[in-house]
Amino acid sequence: MRKKIVAANWKMNMTQAEAARFVESLLLELGDIADVEVVIVPPFTAIAKVTEALGKSQNIKIGAQNMHWERNGAFTGEISAALLRDLFVRYVVLGHSERRTLFGETDKIVNRKVRAAHEATLRPIVCVGETLVQRDKGSVEKILSIQLHGSLATLGAKELQETVIAYEPVWAIGTGRNATPEQAQEAHAFIRHTLREMSDETTAERVRLQYGGSVNPENARELMSQPDIDGALVGGASLDPRSFAQIVLSAREEDKTAAPSATV
Ligand code: PEP
Repeated sequence: MRKKIVAANWKMNMTQAEAARFVESLLLELGDIADVEVVIVPPFTAIAKVTEALGKSQNIKIGAQNMHWERNGAFTGEISAALLRDLFVRYVVLGHSERRTLFGETDKIVNRKVRAAHEATLRPIVCVGETLVQRDKGSVEKILSIQLHGSLATLGAKELQETVIAYEPVWAIGTGRNATPEQAQEAHAFIRHTLREMSDETTAERVRLQYGGSVNPENARELMSQPDIDGALVGGASLDPRSFAQIVLSAREEDKTAAPSATV
C-alpha cells in the first residue's frame, strides 16, 4: 500500500514570520501526523524558520522548490542539493511547469537535477503535465510519455521508487479549474503504465503519484480516492493552514488502512 503524500508548494510567498505562524496553526490542526506524509515546500528564505517551528515534530518534512544540478562552485544565485540537505530538506520539487515555461527548463535539465538530487539522498517530486492546447489536440499521453522518459532517464528501480511524480495539468494550475477525478485518474494510470514500461511492475506499483492543479478542501477527497492518485501537490490552498490541513485529513480518511510505504 502506498502511503499518501500531500505537499504544500508556497511558491514565492511567506515571510519567516508568516511561515512560523503557519506551522504553529498546522501543528494545532494535525499534530505530528504519521499516517499521511506531509511536506512543506517554503521559499528558500523560510526553510530554516519552518524547521525551527516544527520543533520535535518528526513526520512533517521539508521540501525545496528547485535546485541546481552541480554540487558547488561558481553558480551565482543557485543552490545545490548539499546546501539543501544542510538545512534538513528531504524533498525537492523539480520540473514544475512554472520553471519549465518561465525559466526554460527542459526535460534534460530536469533529468540532471533529478539525478543530482538522488546522489545527495534528496527525494525529487518531479512535475509533468500537458497544456490545454496539448489536451485539446489529444496529445496528453504523448506529452506525458516524453516528459517521463526525459526527466527520469537513466534512473534505476530504487531511485524511481524514491521519486514522487506530480501530475499537474498546466491548465489547472492556479486557475481554479481542476481536472475531474476521472481525467486525473486516467492520466495517473497512464503514468503508472509508462513507469511499468520504463522499469518493472513492482517499481511502478511503489512510485507515489500526486495530483496537482487547483486542489482545495472541496475537491481533494474525491481526487485522492482514485486508485492511482497517492496524494496532492497543493499551491494556492496551501497558503492557509486550515485549508491545507483539511486537504491532508481528506487523504487520511481515504486511506485509513494504509501501511507505511516501503520506500519511506
Ligand atoms: C502548483 O503550483 O503546484 C499548484 C498545483 O498550484 P495550485 O494548487 O494553486 O493550482
